[in-house]
Amino acid sequence: MQPYSLPLLYLPLIARTKSMALRFLGFVLCAGLITLAAAPASAQHQHPMYWDVHDPDRPQPQVIDPGPAPNGPIPAPDDATVLFDGTDLQAWEHADTSAALWTVTDGAVEVQPGTGNLRTKRSFGDVQLHLEFATPPEDEDIAQGKGNSGVFLMGKYEVQILDSYQNQTYPDGQCAAIYSQYPPLVNASRPPGEWQTYDIVFRRPHFDEDGGVVTPARMTVFHNGVLVQDNVELTGPTAYMERPDYQPHAAQLPLQLQDHGNRVRYRNIWVRELE
Ligand code: MG
Repeated sequence: MQPYSLPLLYLPLIARTKSMALRFLGFVLCAGLITLAAAPASAQHQHPMYWDVHDPDRPQPQVIDPGPAPNGPIPAPDDATVLFDGTDLQAWEHADTSAALWTVTDGAVEVQPGTGNLRTKRSFGDVQLHLEFATPPEDEDIAQGKGNSGVFLMGKYEVQILDSYQNQTYPDGQCAAIYSQYPPLVNASRPPGEWQTYDIVFRRPHFDEDGGVVTPARMTVFHNGVLVQDNVELTGPTAYMERPDYQPHAAQLPLQLQDHGNRVRYRNIWVRELE
C-alpha cells in the first residue's frame, strides 16, 4: 500500500460523522494528508534508492522513435580531442596497457569478444563525450545478452549499451541506462545494425582529504538526440547486482568501452574537456 492511501481508510468514518462541521474538517484534513504524503512519494520514485537494483517492477520507459539515423558520422568540433576517427586505435589500449585488439573495418571498431575492455591512453575528468555505436543485427540472444557493451566514464560509471529495440530487460540495465541506477527517461533505441549516438555530459565526483564525498558525479545523456538522463546524481560507481559506495579516486581517469562478449561496433568518438 502507498503511504498516501492511508488517510483514505478514515474516509468512511468521516462520512458517518453527524456534525457537518466535523465532517468538513475531516475531509479537509484527509485531503491535506494525501497531498503531503503523495508529493515526496513521486519524488522518491525518481531516485534509484527507491527501487531494488535491477528491480523488474520498475516502470519500463516509454518507447519512442528518434527519427532516422544520420547519413554519416557527426563532425567533431575543432576543440575536441578525437579518440577514434575510423582509422586506427592509437588512442586506445587494454587495461594491462597491451595494444588494442579490437578490429577496425569500414571506419568502425568492433568488439572482439574475450579480448577485454578498451580504455583510452589519456585520462579525463569532466567531459562532453560523443560516440556512435551499432549493435549486431545477427545477435539472437535476449535481454542482457543482446548487443551488450557500455561506455564507462572514468572507467567506473557506465552508460549501458544494449540492443533495447523490442528487447526487454530490467529498466536500470537497458540501453542508455546509468547501469543499476537510472533507466533512461524514454527508450529512444534504433534497430540493431543502425548507427546510434550518445552525447554525454559528465561531471566527476569530488572528494575531501578524508575521502568523503563533497559532490557526487552527475550525468546528462542524449540518446539519438533525445534527452534520456537529465543531470542525474550518481549514487556511486555502477555495478552488477549492487550499488557500491564511492571510493575516492583521481581527478582524471581513462574512459573505457566494454567487452561484454557481443560484437558491438563503434565509430566517431570524441571528447571535449570541460572546466
Ligand atoms: Mg554493459
